[in-house]
Amino acid sequence: MIEFTNVSKSYQVGGTTIPVLRDISFQIGSGEFVSIMGPSGSGKSTLMHIIGCLDTPTSGQVSLFGASLASMTRDELARTRNREIGFVFQNFHLIARMTALRNVELPLVYAGWRRSKRIERATQLLTDVGLEHRLNHYPNELSGGQKQRVAIARALATGPSLILADEPTGALDTATGTEIMGLFQRLNQQGVTVVVVTHDDSIARYASRIIHVRDGEVVDN
Ligand code: ADP
Ligand code: MG
Repeated sequence: MIEFTNVSKSYQVGGTTIPVLRDISFQIGSGEFVSIMGPSGSGKSTLMHIIGCLDTPTSGQVSLFGASLASMTRDELARTRNREIGFVFQNFHLIARMTALRNVELPLVYAGWRRSKRIERATQLLTDVGLEHRLNHYPNELSGGQKQRVAIARALATGPSLILADEPTGALDTATGTEIMGLFQRLNQQGVTVVVVTHDDSIARYASRIIHVRDGEVVDN
């Protein structure tokens, strides 16, 4: 599903080249549950942005769902990003002026769904993550764990086959973080490929495989 071959990424900052990923190669198969671990600044988010078609490598090949990213048009990339991949972030990225239900509906608005179908789908997704009693609450009326559940329901709205979560438990206490990982585990059992970035050993343990990143290199996988 995901294949990196000799991928490097560097940023240009004020005329200097800063290498962030150095010659990384790895594969993640369909149906896997993988943790990416590494210290702060090691390049984990950059790696996730490249997997999620939010950024491109400086050199090397990336293929996703069997297609080389370099060969995909801008429209194909946007379609893959919007329909095939669900994103979950540390700080939830919910829209404050929208209820939980509206937040989950939003990707379906962009995908052109009719209102009645959107409401039906968003209600089902929020029920699946245990929030059937919070549909009309605003983000500031929800706990951190509940916000992350809304964000996960939103990530699942278009039925993606891949979930990318960057430090999804970083803003949560251990017990709540453990519940969120249990939710990812259940999604994975339902067939969704899950990639979770974390620097927490107890969180990484939930995955069936751990990829370690250090100073922009994959040191073990
Ligand atoms: P991690 O998620 O593991 O903490 P990041 O991928 O966010 O690491 O960052 C890796 C390195 O790349 C850091 O040194 C960071 O400062 C640098 N970096 C990240 N994004 C940019 C950018 N847009 N421009 C310049 N440097 C960046
Ligand atoms: Mg990061």
